[in-house]
Amino acid sequence: MSGPNSSFDPVEVAALSEEEVSRAVDAATAAFAAAATLEELKQARIDHAGDRSALALANREIGALPPQARKDAGQRVGRARGQVNQALAARQEVLEAEHEERMLAEETVDVTLPTTRRPRGARHPITLQSELIADIFVAMGWEIAEGPVVEAEWLNFDALNLGPDHPARTMQDTFWTEPADRHVVLRTQTSPVQARTMLTRQPPIYVACPGRVFRTDEYDATHSPMFHQVEGLVVDEGISMAHLKGSLDHLAARLFGEGIDTRFRPSYFPFTEPSAEVDVRCFVCRGVGSDACRTCRGEGWIEWGGCGVVNPRVLTACGVDPERYSGFAFGMGIDRSFMFRHGLEDLRPLFEGDVRFSAAFGTEI
Ligand SMILES: [Zn+2]
Repeated sequence: MSGPNSSFDPVEVAALSEEEVSRAVDAATAAFAAAATLEELKQARIDHAGDRSALALANREIGALPPQARKDAGQRVGRARGQVNQALAARQEVLEAEHEERMLAEETVDVTLPTTRRPRGARHPITLQSELIADIFVAMGWEIAEGPVVEAEWLNFDALNLGPDHPARTMQDTFWTEPADRHVVLRTQTSPVQARTMLTRQPPIYVACPGRVFRTDEYDATHSPMFHQVEGLVVDEGISMAHLKGSLDHLAARLFGEGIDTRFRPSYFPFTEPSAEVDVRCFVCRGVGSDACRTCRGEGWIEWGGCGVVNPRVLTACGVDPERYSGFAFGMGIDRSFMFRHGLEDLRPLFEGDVRFSAAFGTEI
């Protein structure tokens, strides 16, 4: 050997001794094991496997050794660095797995936590029911007609053949506005809309009139001083009871399901002749009338509304020639249809504005 290292005996380089190398390996593996996070492991890797680590520094000394010693030391340091890298990779894998698990746990959404979201306004189930019914008529080519809820007595009663002595005109049923000699009422039915339609245009007339009506009923589970009705009126040439039955069967099938039809029972209404009560086939037991059916209470049919062929006197009062035209009319409660459709025993929740009730019926925003 010559040069500046001639006095140096490389065989004896302390850093390359078996003890020092194995101490470096032990220190490295201990440091890796002690690293609790990926951040700490990164520091341990710099300290024990980086360019300035004991083994890296020792490795630099190898070149100065005589051939045999160089070979021995090379193998020793190479093996040691292999062990260190293995220990590092193993610890890295463990810590990465732990990290991932922790992230998953922390990012889990707890669906049972109470929400801070505030309920948004919603459309009322009766509004949606009215629109559904209107859509069914529009699909048949009918028009939707609306009128004022504060109405002339003549349109609410006289035009519909409810004479001055008819019991429906007494104070028990009707809200009268003051002064009484103005003869203005809160409409007791949507029929004045039909009268208005006939007075303002010529047949053919195909209209449905959904809307609010008022009666002086006590407010209880089955009565309300304000409720909703839909009435239909057709006036055209050659219209008969058969057209009425077909229209109501179609409405029943669209509202309550395919195969649900109606039946008529003889009745009396001043504005129709002949008149009939309409029952709709129970959509739960499908008309079988089993004692177990709560919807129809074993009847097989549910009372739905009233209907009939328009009385010629009503046509005359509204300026339509009864010799040329005939028509039919019907009416039913929207609230009532909604109640038995959904098995409600009490109508009061429909009018009390609790959004929890509306939301239960899949109410649209
Ligand atoms: Zn039934």
